[in-house]
Amino acid sequence: MPDSIPPEIFDCRRCGDCCLGEGGIILDERDVARLAAHLNQAVADFLMRCTELCSGRTRVRTAPDGYCLFYDHAIHGCAVHPARPDICRAWPFFRGNLVDKYSWRLAQDACPGIVAAAGHAAFARAGREYLRRHNLVRRDDAAAPCALTSIDRDDAAE
Ligand code: SF4
Ligand code: SF4
Repeated sequence: MPDSIPPEIFDCRRCGDCCLGEGGIILDERDVARLAAHLNQAVADFLMRCTELCSGRTRVRTAPDGYCLFYDHAIHGCAVHPARPDICRAWPFFRGNLVDKYSWRLAQDACPGIVAAAGHAAFARAGREYLRRHNLVRRDDAAAPCALTSIDRDDAAE
């Protein structure tokens, strides 16, 4: 969930739904280094304790209750918030939601923080600006989470 987005575009309700479910939190090398340092663990220990490999990509493990390993029910939020993965910083401004208003509408079913009244164009404008400001655009399709790649190519095509 992003910081510093106007509440008329996005207003997180802290429902925790984006932290529930298996497999979506893909990490790149920068995420791994930041999380390991935050947890005061060696990178190898962090990878062994907190992650697993899936189709060649590193992802955060899921706890037995189905939530992300880092979800803290006591605070209704992320236990590693200052160091959270880039893909978590970027939600709900994933590429699909930026380029496709139908995906944006579907995302509203999963995330009550997305303000429908804002309209898709304003959401996409704010999202692109947010991703750039926070250095969340990725160009390495092989290593980066897919949801964060390619918006520059989309911009070039517009
Ligand atoms: S699903 Fe949306 S509203 Fe709920 S915690 Fe995640 S970002 Fe916030
Ligand atoms: S790392 Fe934090 S914000 Fe991301 S899914 Fe896990 S608990 Fe949620």
